[in-house]
Amino acid sequence: MRITVLKETDPFESRVALVPESVRKLVSMQAEVCVEQGAGLAASIEDAEYASAGATLSNDRAALLGTADVLLAVNRPADDDLSRLRSGAVVIAFLRPLDEPEKMRQMLEKELTAFAIELIPRTTRAQSMDGLSSMATIVGYKAVLMAAERMPRLFPMLTTAAGTIPPAKVLILGAGVAGLQAIATARRLGAIVEGFDVRAAAGEAVRSLGAKFLAIDLGGLQAEDAGGYAREVTEEVMDCSRELIARQAKASDCIITSAQVPGKRAPLLVTAEAVAAMKRGSIVVDLAGSTGGNCALSKPGEEVVVNGVTIIAPLNIAATVPLHASQLYSRNLTTFLSIMIKEGQLNLDFNDDIIGPSCAVHQGRAADSRLQAALATK
Ligand code: NAD
Repeated sequence: MRITVLKETDPFESRVALVPESVRKLVSMQAEVCVEQGAGLAASIEDAEYASAGATLSNDRAALLGTADVLLAVNRPADDDLSRLRSGAVVIAFLRPLDEPEKMRQMLEKELTAFAIELIPRTTRAQSMDGLSSMATIVGYKAVLMAAERMPRLFPMLTTAAGTIPPAKVLILGAGVAGLQAIATARRLGAIVEGFDVRAAAGEAVRSLGAKFLAIDLGGLQAEDAGGYAREVTEEVMDCSRELIARQAKASDCIITSAQVPGKRAPLLVTAEAVAAMKRGSIVVDLAGSTGGNCALSKPGEEVVVNGVTIIAPLNIAATVPLHASQLYSRNLTTFLSIMIKEGQLNLDFNDDIIGPSCAVHQGRAADSRLQAALATK
């Protein structure tokens, strides 16, 4: 079985799907690993490290694609690359099947078997394969550093000979994996932190990190689905949330937003009025830019300054920490692959409670019911 890793084509991507330590593991499972020359350079990994881990290196991208049994990637491969794969080949990557269902058509037509990292269930057994959590951890951490770098003030309280500096006040919206990591990082830097989420269950996690949880009355509404994700809430709950956030925003030096609902536009939580009420020098870091943003003034990928308040909505934060992002992702992929490899051969058991649900496309059909529905309505 040949596993192939290419250099990512997106000019802003610096991660790589496999790192040498994973190559070594896969080779020990009797897989053959082929890596495109230079694939790891942007993540500070040399070709020689892949070679000494047991990979074969090549600069013939077309041949690498044409002979791959499994193509591992960070982002969904370009149509050009997909067209060079053999029908029946397996693709594993962040494919965005629910956010961009139309872009899955090429894989359907080519009869590829595609596994989307986003569809891996958030279960205890799949925890070590959870690429979304790995990237969200990096994003939450880096978001706080991005804010700290741009703010005209420090995060910690400092008592100096020149007097005392008060700690920064940070508000984190959405307490999933990224939000909780942002809370932990801001706390480590010494800020006073508040967290908000519509899932009541998030309260305990927020408080355990030393932050205050802001709760709203959901009027009996269950905001969490069976998979642990947030549901879309009513307009009434959204209005109530926006009011609470606008009140807290006035006193916050930094707001980091990470609220998402899978397959939907990100909920709008920070209004233009809330930003207008913030102090000059404050900052909003919107981590939901790729799904429309949590702040009304966010421009995905851009930095906007309104009345002295900076609003940034960076799009691929994980790629700004490429070595560790690649390392975590590569370990997730390798654990995922390990349940598919038997005696060096690919053995896809679609009844497996991880393999089945994470398959987006198989034998020319959408395997995921939500993707099926999205494609049927187009
Ligand atoms: P996500 O990226 O889908 O969303 C981020 C956060 O935004 C979530 O906490 C969500 O509740 C919140 N949110 C959505 N709408 C909101 C609104 N209107 N206002 C405020 N907040 C809103 O979440 P995620 O980080 O991918 O985590 C999703 C769930 O999966 C969580 O319950 C998390 O604890 C769970 N999880 C479980 C495992 C596991 O058991 N293996 C691993 C990772 C995550």
